[in-house]
Amino acid sequence: MFLKGCALSCWWCHNPESQAPGPELLLHPSRCIRCGACVEACGRGAARLEDDGPAADREACRDCDEFACATVCVAEARQIAGRRMTVTQVLDVAARDEPFYRDGGGVTLSGGEPMLQPDFTAGLLAALKARGIHTALDTCGHTSWEALDRIRRDVDLFLYDVKLMDEERHRRFTGVSNRRILANLRALADGGQRILLRVPVVPGINDDDENVRALAGLAAGLPGLDGVELLPYHRIGADKYVRLDRKYRLLTTDAPSRARLDAIADVLAASGVRVGRGGT
Ligand code: SF4
Ligand code: SF4
Repeated sequence: MFLKGCALSCWWCHNPESQAPGPELLLHPSRCIRCGACVEACGRGAARLEDDGPAADREACRDCDEFACATVCVAEARQIAGRRMTVTQVLDVAARDEPFYRDGGGVTLSGGEPMLQPDFTAGLLAALKARGIHTALDTCGHTSWEALDRIRRDVDLFLYDVKLMDEERHRRFTGVSNRRILANLRALADGGQRILLRVPVVPGINDDDENVRALAGLAAGLPGLDGVELLPYHRIGADKYVRLDRKYRLLTTDAPSRARLDAIADVLAASGVRVGRGGT
């Protein structure tokens, strides 16, 4: 299993290629003291020291498990983001907070996208449930029904992301159709799962009246829905993209205004669902 702090906006979680297959190298050029130790330590010739600081051949780094460059960097200008852990290791960490879970807490599997690692996710959820710990799964739903069916009895609450109701627009902005996502959502609801629908609100992409009305219709038709949570878009992750040498595609997009969020909440609430606000 690979764990990391999420470096990616949930907007891209449909695309496995947008997610790291393992730990990744973060670069902090301003911390570099130009000692050259990283260049010497890298056995692949991928670490470079350029005029504006440390650099790396990301293709070569993709298969690197040693991260020798980061290990020798005393200035922490090179850092490893994420680490590999087994189900038992994660369970041990989660169990340290067990007294708090009894007062209404629990463990949420989030990401990235936990369903990109279905075996680990299934194993961890089963282990948590066997221990009596409340579980939540934050997912974009772009996975097979077989994978969801396998884990759903071990999930107390699904935090299910839905962005765009129109299939073509969904395909344009996320790279995939929303058919499977919506079919999985309905199947989970019909199966009696507890679901909180989560909607990232991104101005100019999915905050229009047509999409909001369609979302309201979807929510109203889901049996037993806990409610809808609006997640206002933000650019908190933009700096991390730079450190990962990734292109951040929404740099000019601003957070939605409070007035627009209120208007969206009103439309959703009018369909009879409970509406809340959260953070991505
Ligand atoms: S080891 Fe760290 S501080 Fe030294 S040159 Fe490399 S990145 Fe800079
Ligand atoms: S992550 Fe590995 S391959 Fe990449 S620069 Fe560091 S040591 Fe070299």
